[in-house]
Amino acid sequence: MEPSMHSGATPIHYRLSLARPAAHVFQIRCTIAEPAAEGQRLRLPAWIPGSYMIRDFARNIISIRACNDEGAVALHRVDKSTWQCAPCAGPLYVDYEVYAWDLSVRAAHFDQTHAYFNGASLFLAAVGQEARPCELTIPRPEHAPMRDWQVATSLDAGEDTPRHGFGSWRAPDYDALIDHPFEIGALTLAEFEVAGVPHEIALYGRHEADMTRLVDDLQRICTTHVEMFGELPPMSRYVFLVMAVGEGYGGLEHRSSCSLLCSREDLPHPADEGVTEKYRGFLGLCSHEYFHTWNIKRIKPEVFMPYRLERETHTTLLWAFEGITSYYDDLGLLRSGLIPLESYLELLGQTVTRVMRGPGRFRQSIAESSFDAWTRFYKQDENAANAIVSYYAKGALVALALDLRLRRDSGGRASLDDLMRRLWQEYGRPGIGLPEGRIEAIAGELAGRDMQDFFAAFVYGHEDPPLGELLAELGIVAQQRARSDLQDKGGKPAEDPLVVDLAAVLRDCDQGLRIQSVTEDGPAQQAGLSAGDLILAIDGLRTDCRRLASLLRRRRPGDSLEVHYFRRDELFQTTVVLAAAPRDTWYFRVDEHADAAARARLAAWRGEPA
Ligand SMILES: [Zn+2]
Repeated sequence: MEPSMHSGATPIHYRLSLARPAAHVFQIRCTIAEPAAEGQRLRLPAWIPGSYMIRDFARNIISIRACNDEGAVALHRVDKSTWQCAPCAGPLYVDYEVYAWDLSVRAAHFDQTHAYFNGASLFLAAVGQEARPCELTIPRPEHAPMRDWQVATSLDAGEDTPRHGFGSWRAPDYDALIDHPFEIGALTLAEFEVAGVPHEIALYGRHEADMTRLVDDLQRICTTHVEMFGELPPMSRYVFLVMAVGEGYGGLEHRSSCSLLCSREDLPHPADEGVTEKYRGFLGLCSHEYFHTWNIKRIKPEVFMPYRLERETHTTLLWAFEGITSYYDDLGLLRSGLIPLESYLELLGQTVTRVMRGPGRFRQSIAESSFDAWTRFYKQDENAANAIVSYYAKGALVALALDLRLRRDSGGRASLDDLMRRLWQEYGRPGIGLPEGRIEAIAGELAGRDMQDFFAAFVYGHEDPPLGELLAELGIVAQQRARSDLQDKGGKPAEDPLVVDLAAVLRDCDQGLRIQSVTEDGPAQQAGLSAGDLILAIDGLRTDCRRLASLLRRRRPGDSLEVHYFRRDELFQTTVVLAAAPRDTWYFRVDEHADAAARARLAAWRGEPA
């Protein structure tokens, strides 16, 4: 960011009132000292950085009016996100209400238990004055229990504002104002230090989390990423804002904080032994969002500098920001010693399985998936697995393949770590946008040979990265089998895999089995079954996932099943001719007999001292 041109100017001021929790309404007064001479325009972002979908936050503004010290100022709509005020003398006051009832990390949620918000969904920008500093005031609510609430945010507080208290906060510009979410409520707070910078966990929700353990584990993850990049970007503090609920999952990165939504079961319990599968998932999410502190919050696509939040911004590079981050999130758990290699390989096997089960990867490259994120990855329908590829999941596999190729081609002198450090030093640290094509060039320099073929095949093309071959050089053996049941996610060996399969994703429901999706040209689709159909009976008997799996273990390719099903309210009958279950389920194991060179390569990759 350039130093603000208006750093000495009067800030745009926002006053946020928490007076109406039961209505889930934030009341906001925006004060603009010097409104534009031709009349001030006001605009709310249509999307929030990190989540590439048009959300039109302005639809939650349920009332708005403007005035100055002389009286009312006329205000009219320009488009779905923009208002135009009549020319008037300053200061201009804009009073508006925002409905906040979205329990996700992307918008705002407000009730009698807490207030969570992203500025992008609440604070109108004074168009043309975005470079001015901004000030936010949140007065202490009058009534209990809200008056005892604590405030957690990474935004810098004013001098008179106690830590975790109500008061005022300052941002150097509008872009910064909306990049520091707030969590306000009866919070569980814990602090630790990484690279000399205070780090904090602020946890909202009913929970029984082992905070000591959480602090220790997060500190290890953060330290691992800081050591890889060589430094933490300059910041006064970093905050993990966590909302623990019954069922929920999500994360969103910010410049010096992240918002996480999890199930309270995902948090470590004092009685837990080892890292449970759910806690491993939570740690992976924390690791992911923290890695973004470098990779997308500072190393950014050129087209995101600056963000244009009124419309979609397309880039083919999301695979590098989400895929590479997804690679390092679990690798960070391994490198920081929180999970053993077997556990990491299980996660890797699950990712490979997820990618390999999607025929959409032959239709869409991860560069195309990045470009189309707005209308395809973020708007997935029942045909997604046949039509698109995830730039997260396949991106993570391409990142692993790139890491192993760099290590091989450079004779062990370079790796993806070096590439990430180059990106940080050359783009992230100085704040220069990353152009398309630059990653390929740096990879070529590090490998000592042209790498265009690699990117043409796996990033811009539809080929699967050769993970089996590359991992073999580390003494890791890739294995494939058929699924063992209808919920099988892969990552582990199985004793009793299915012999035949329907090639459909099914879910138990009250009346039978609901089809979630069907694989193109598989037995279910060939028999005329579709996503949404409700299977009532197979071979004349009521069924569920468990009974169907045991049936599929006893049948042979070419056998058939009689299926009764509802499509909407119409009853149909069809015959499914079963095909051999594909060997699309992957797992990995360490080769006990790998030679010393392979063992050394494995140790170097997982960050063990040579
Ligand atoms: Zn991410």
